[in-house]
Amino acid sequence: MIISMRITVQNEAETANAAQNFADKLKNSDLCAFYGDLGAGKTHFCRAVIQHLCGNHVTVPSPTFTLVETYDSPHGPIWHFDAYRLDHPDEIFEIGWEEARQDGIILLEWPEKIGSILPKAVWTVTLENDSSDPNMRHITITEPERPS
Ligand code: ADP
Ligand code: MG
Repeated sequence: MIISMRITVQNEAETANAAQNFADKLKNSDLCAFYGDLGAGKTHFCRAVIQHLCGNHVTVPSPTFTLVETYDSPHGPIWHFDAYRLDHPDEIFEIGWEEARQDGIILLEWPEKIGSILPKAVWTVTLENDSSDPNMRHITITEPERPS
């Protein structure tokens, strides 16, 4: 069974709040794929997840240019990837993908960029803008399919 929820938030703080609730469900070996246009709020959401799990004092830059940033959490390492600038899906292996799959939680922005390397059992988080308000977002979260 696929479990999915969709919420509408009015501002950044509400997105962060949704991200904190989401973070409480995560455990080691979970992989989260973040979909949405540039500026949809993927990094903002990931930052709130990381700070909730690792501490509010932790600085979370966008991994747009470094491609991956790692953090220590009580669940093991958190790997925050941004695949936007990859030219080829295989390049994800050059920035620690297999190590990340062995230990930790993965937060991946632009999962489209790694094609079929993305496993099937992933959390998906999709952020959509709303033309009626620049601070509104529709957030859809789908749980990974787990073997029953
Ligand atoms: P992405 O990683 O998807 O490209 P970012 O998280 O880097 O997007 O940027 C999202 C931008 O949208 C930020 O400038 C943020 O301040 C703004 N924003 C406005 N409203 C929201 C909201 N409700 N949730 C998330 N970001 C928002
Ligand atoms: Mg981003």
